[in-house]
Amino acid sequence: MSETHASTDLPQLAFASLRPMIRAHAEEHELTILRDSSSGLHIDTYYGSVEFMLSGAGARVEIRAPHADYVQILKDSLVDQINADFPLVAQDIRWNDAAQVAKLPANIWAMKFASVEVMDSGFLRVVLRGDVSRFSDDAIHFRLGIAPQGRPMPWPQVGDNGSTLWPEGEDRLHLPVYTARHVDQTNGTLSFDLFAHAGGRATQWAQRATAGVDVLITSPGGGGCKIPETINGFADETGFPAVARILKANPDLTGRFILYGDKPCAQRYPLPKHSGVEVSFAPPDRKPLMAEDAIKSIDETSPPFLWFAGNRAQASAVRTTWRKRDHDREGAYISGFWGERAQTQ
Ligand SMILES: Cc1cc2nc3c(=O)[nH]c(=O)nc-3n(C[C@H](O)[C@H](O)[C@H](O)COP(=O)(O)OP(=O)(O)OC[C@H]3O[C@@H](n4cnc5c(N)ncnc54)[C@H](O)[C@@H]3O)c2cc1C
Repeated sequence: MSETHASTDLPQLAFASLRPMIRAHAEEHELTILRDSSSGLHIDTYYGSVEFMLSGAGARVEIRAPHADYVQILKDSLVDQINADFPLVAQDIRWNDAAQVAKLPANIWAMKFASVEVMDSGFLRVVLRGDVSRFSDDAIHFRLGIAPQGRPMPWPQVGDNGSTLWPEGEDRLHLPVYTARHVDQTNGTLSFDLFAHAGGRATQWAQRATAGVDVLITSPGGGGCKIPETINGFADETGFPAVARILKANPDLTGRFILYGDKPCAQRYPLPKHSGVEVSFAPPDRKPLMAEDAIKSIDETSPPFLWFAGNRAQASAVRTTWRKRDHDREGAYISGFWGERAQTQ
C-alpha cells in the first residue's frame, strides 16, 4: 500500500519533555509503542504511525499513514496533545506539506443529501450522494457535520500549524457518528440508518433536509466489521446498523447477538439472515439492564469475542469488568455510542 508522509521540526521543544507526554497519551489510549528510547519514540495507531526523534536541542516528528485523510487525523491529534502542555509550540508548528493550509482538511469532504425514508422500525434511512471511495468493511463509522439550524454550512479549514480549525460560537457544528449501512461504490451512494429519538438534532435535520444540499462527512474509521471468532454481542438501536454490517461481512461467524430497543417496533429493523449467529431481542424494559446482561455473560476463563455498543455509562461498566477480569483488550469491542450529554466535536 502506498504511504503518505508528513514531518515537522520542533526546535523549541526538548525531546526529553515531549517523550513522557506522548508516552502517557499512548498508554491511556492503549496504542502500541513500537520503540521507546532516549533518542526516539515510535507509536503505532489505527490511522498510521507517528515517530518522535531527538533532533539537536529539540525534536522532530514524522507521520506515516496509508491516506492523506489519516495524516490529517494524526496531525490534529498531535497538535492537540502538544497544545495541552505547550500551547506556544503548538501554534508555531509548520509541516513540510503546508500546501494544505486554508483548504478543507483531507479527512473531510462534502456529499449531497439525496433522500430520507421513514422505516417502520423507528429509524430514518438517509441516502447521501458523492465520493464513497474511502468506505470499506475496514472503516464503517463516520461523522456527519450538521450546521446550526438556519445557518449555512460553516466549513472547517486547515490552520497554519496543520490542525483543523473548526467553526466556533454560533457556527459550531454538531458532529454525531453514524455507521455506513450500504455503500454503493458504482453509483456513489452512502446510506445510513438514524435512530429517531426525541430531541435529536440529527433526527430534526434529516426530517427537514432537501435533496441536493451539501453535508459534511468525515473520513470513515473507528474500526471495521470483521470479527475473527465466536461472537457474544449486545447492542441498542444505535448499534443495530453495525450489527447488520457484521452479519453481512462474516458469513462463517458463530455466536449470538442480543438486541435492545425502546419499543417493540425495533424488532422490525432489517437485519441480514445469518445461519451461524442467533439474533434475539430483549424485552423493551430490559434496555437499562443491557450492561448487567453483558457482564453476567462474560465467561471467567475463555470468553468469546465480546461486542457491546450502547449507552456510554453502560459501556464503561462493561469495559471495567472486562479489564478487571484480565481479559485481552483484543478480545472485545466495547463502545459507548451515545450518552446523556449531547455528542459534539
Ligand atoms: C461508532 C458509532 C457508531 C454509531 N452509529 C449510529 C448509527 O448507525 N445510527 C444511529 O442512530 N446512531 C449511531 N450512533 C450514535 C449517535 O452518534 C448518537 O446517538 C448521537 O448522539 C446522535 O445525535 P443526535 O443528533 O441524534 O442527538 P443529540 O442532539 O446529540 O442529543 C439530543 C439528546 O438525545 C440524547 N440521545 C442521543 N442519542 C440517543 C439515543 N440513541 N437514544 C436516546 N437518547 C439519545 C442525548 O443524550 C441528548 O440528551 C453511533 C455512535 C458511534 C460512537
